[in-house]
Amino acid sequence: PRIITAETLGPEEAQDRAIRPKLLADYVGQPSASEQLGIFVQAARARNEPLDHTLIFGPPGLGKTTLANILANEMGVEMKQTSGPVLEKAGDVAAILTNLEPNSVLFIDEIHRLSPVVEEVLYPAMEDYQIDIMIGEGPAARSIKLDLPPFTLVGATTRAGLLTSPLRDRFGIVQRLEFYNVADLSSIVTRSAGILGLPMDAEGANEIARRSRGTPRIANRLLRRVRDYAEVKSDGRITGEIADAALKMLDVDRCGFDQQDRRLLKTIIEKFDGGPVGLDNLAAAIGEERDTIEDVLEPYLIQQGYIMRTPRGRMATRHAWQYLGLDQPNDGDA
Ligand code: ADP
Repeated sequence: PRIITAETLGPEEAQDRAIRPKLLADYVGQPSASEQLGIFVQAARARNEPLDHTLIFGPPGLGKTTLANILANEMGVEMKQTSGPVLEKAGDVAAILTNLEPNSVLFIDEIHRLSPVVEEVLYPAMEDYQIDIMIGEGPAARSIKLDLPPFTLVGATTRAGLLTSPLRDRFGIVQRLEFYNVADLSSIVTRSAGILGLPMDAEGANEIARRSRGTPRIANRLLRRVRDYAEVKSDGRITGEIADAALKMLDVDRCGFDQQDRRLLKTIIEKFDGGPVGLDNLAAAIGEERDTIEDVLEPYLIQQGYIMRTPRGRMATRHAWQYLGLDQPNDGDA
């Protein structure tokens, strides 16, 4: 699998749980989201009400699930977790909603992938803590209203634009997570190394942080791989030099890009003269899913200024040409 993928892999999940922050105070970075949520939680607690429904969006691995857990912890309530594609029928979500503890958090990951019938159940549930259930079939069918315990829906999505507007409108709190800067990622890996008992100096932390695509999950994953390298090739201490050597071996370059990133940039430049190229053509040319490009590959490349999204497609910027050691024809001023 891709080393810098932001997906969680099975065997490392236990370690992952240990290093996952449990309270807002341990949640590094995202100053705006942290501050606002801290205030909303405190206010809701003081009124003894559930927190307002909260939508969190941002690329994979930036801490959406972590934040949902933290909200439940800070509210002192239980959290139940599910995801959009898992909830197929109206009954699936009705069963979960009717079994919630009062004021608890229901976390729905990939909330943009809910089926329309499930969304229909959620509207009155979110608004009035009620659901309509159909009893019987055919002409004898009738709907009855059921009261639900008050609850907080926390939804996570990689792209807020994919949510239907009636659903989006029902969230009182909307937070967008940003890519992390190097200083924040450095504190995150330093904290993780502390919990896992790994010796690491500031240069080691910095090297991993710089090459983690602004993403905590990737930073923690690279930390584990660098640890392996340090233990086998050296005395186990993670220094800048060791981290650099390990990441080179893993083919993660100085910008934190791997083969897939490089292929994307090269393809836009070499096959499409720097673009603009439509997403479907690009996906076909590099043999990736459209969604993978949009959710995983391009957000960081865009944020770092290597590609641009234009109405006619994706374009490589001056940075991308420079990165590949190429001269940009006309320098784009034609
Ligand atoms: P998402 O749900 O957005 O895909 P997660 O919440 O699963 O991402 O976060 C991935 C991992 O990154 C978590 O296991 C956690 O350890 C770490 N992490 C995420 N955000 C932070 C943060 N702000 N501070 C420290 N660690 C974080």
